[in-house]
Amino acid sequence: MADTGVAARIHGGLHLDEHKQESNATAIRTLGLPTRLVLPMHQHIGEPAEPLVRVGETVLKGQMIARASDYVSAPVHAPTSGRVTAIGEYPVPHPSGLHDLCIVLEPDGEDRWDTLPPGFPDWRSTDPAEMRERIRWAGIVGLGGAAFPTAVKVNTSGQRRIETLIINAAECEPYITCDDRLMREQAADIVDGIAILRHVLGAERCLIGIEDNKPEAAEALRAALGATVDAATDVVEVPTLYPSGGERQLIMLLTGREVPSHGLPAAVGVVCQNVATAAAVADAVLRGRPLIDRIVTVTGRGVVQPGNFRVRFGTPAPFVIDAAGGRSTDYHRLILGGPMMGFSLHDHQVPVTKASNCLLAPAADELPPSPTERPCIRCGECARVCPAQLLPQQLYWQARAQDFDKVQDYHLFDCIECGCCAYVCPAHIPLVHYYRFAKTAIWAHERDRDKSDLARRRHEARQARLERLEAERKARLRQKKEALEQQPSAAGKDPKRAAIEAAMQRVAAKKAAQLDAGQAPNDE
Ligand code: SF4
Ligand code: SF4
Repeated sequence: MADTGVAARIHGGLHLDEHKQESNATAIRTLGLPTRLVLPMHQHIGEPAEPLVRVGETVLKGQMIARASDYVSAPVHAPTSGRVTAIGEYPVPHPSGLHDLCIVLEPDGEDRWDTLPPGFPDWRSTDPAEMRERIRWAGIVGLGGAAFPTAVKVNTSGQRRIETLIINAAECEPYITCDDRLMREQAADIVDGIAILRHVLGAERCLIGIEDNKPEAAEALRAALGATVDAATDVVEVPTLYPSGGERQLIMLLTGREVPSHGLPAAVGVVCQNVATAAAVADAVLRGRPLIDRIVTVTGRGVVQPGNFRVRFGTPAPFVIDAAGGRSTDYHRLILGGPMMGFSLHDHQVPVTKASNCLLAPAADELPPSPTERPCIRCGECARVCPAQLLPQQLYWQARAQDFDKVQDYHLFDCIECGCCAYVCPAHIPLVHYYRFAKTAIWAHERDRDKSDLARRRHEARQARLERLEAERKARLRQKKEALEQQPSAAGKDPKRAAIEAAMQRVAAKKAAQLDAGQAPNDE
């Protein structure tokens, strides 16, 4: 059982109706092939991937079709074999209803694998840098929903030594059960991934944090750990309280350490990874398999047979809904993610991506739309439940006033967008929308500033280079001129010969000047 004392370690939080049993009773089903896959280039935090294929090209399953374009980026691999039919802008899962660059793949039905790199059977003696490179190649990102590139997260060189790897198995948001089913069915893969991640990080121990509403999953993990005799890894049950699975909250619950504001978990000697990410690491390192699919929970009274599905990236959401028995008569809207942190989809045709942990189709009375927003009554309820110990009301006022300096003074970027404040707000203010708006505006401003800084630095570097070349050219000319002047004159011996030599020197000086100016010498 969970140690209820640890719950006191985090501030606020909410006890919510779990709604887990609707989808966690049946085994994961593997989805078939849709008629087309739409693969966004931006499925992760960081820079989008860059297409490596052209329209008309045939590709094999597991082939890298887009490469990471930057350090914080991730490649995209073909989820099946087939033909690239288009590369262009398509609807992607984003709260704004954005279109973004995607590769469209028409499966050939053969599902033929590309030649994959060999696994590392002796990974314990393999250089961690080589393992990080494999994780990067595989396109692995945080599968808890954050989608931060894992290879970057496990590269802690130059930071404090990592003592503890924390595996986030809390899955605290109502309705979502994809991690629960994965732990029950693939605990051995998760345990393999944990051992590999510990090796890569050099972490002495691992704590798996799991809410106490998943006893079967906790038992499966303990059994898998027992089989590997891994004494440095413990399963720690924590009380069911939303959002215990927030990275900072889970670290506090398990270790009592507080990640500093604006800091990373590495600052307190911790790196946190999700259970599904650990399983993906095992796939990449042991079997040379890139990330091409994930488990997605499909639930809510709006679908006939809720459950969990292994879905290839790029699969359209309606195809997944159909696999769950299709829409019920209660179908009302579609949310990507859970009821607290997810967002309603503008376009239901969007594809499943690396960040898609749940498709929630609630009935109209299951998750009714929020009543009309009213003015803040300064009741302070939002601050009471905020797990990040922020002042949500102040954040709201400053975000609303678009005072982006002030909103950062109130630690906007420590907000994990858990939605607890909005959930309890008696004025029904969509507080998180205001925080997201402020964050997006600040990021856009920083991007513009970075771009203009970069342009200014490039211009200055070019000017400096041109000035250096000009100075070097003048120096060479001066040296040649001086050398010519210092040559002994033959004028005293033979006036005719001296006149010829003087003429030759003038021609040589002219040629040198032409060469320095980048012109072809003019032979006279
Ligand atoms: S809960 Fe809502 S009404 Fe109360 S202080 Fe916070 S923002 Fe204002
Ligand atoms: S959404 Fe942000 S401000 Fe609101 S409760 Fe969660 S962490 Fe606090």
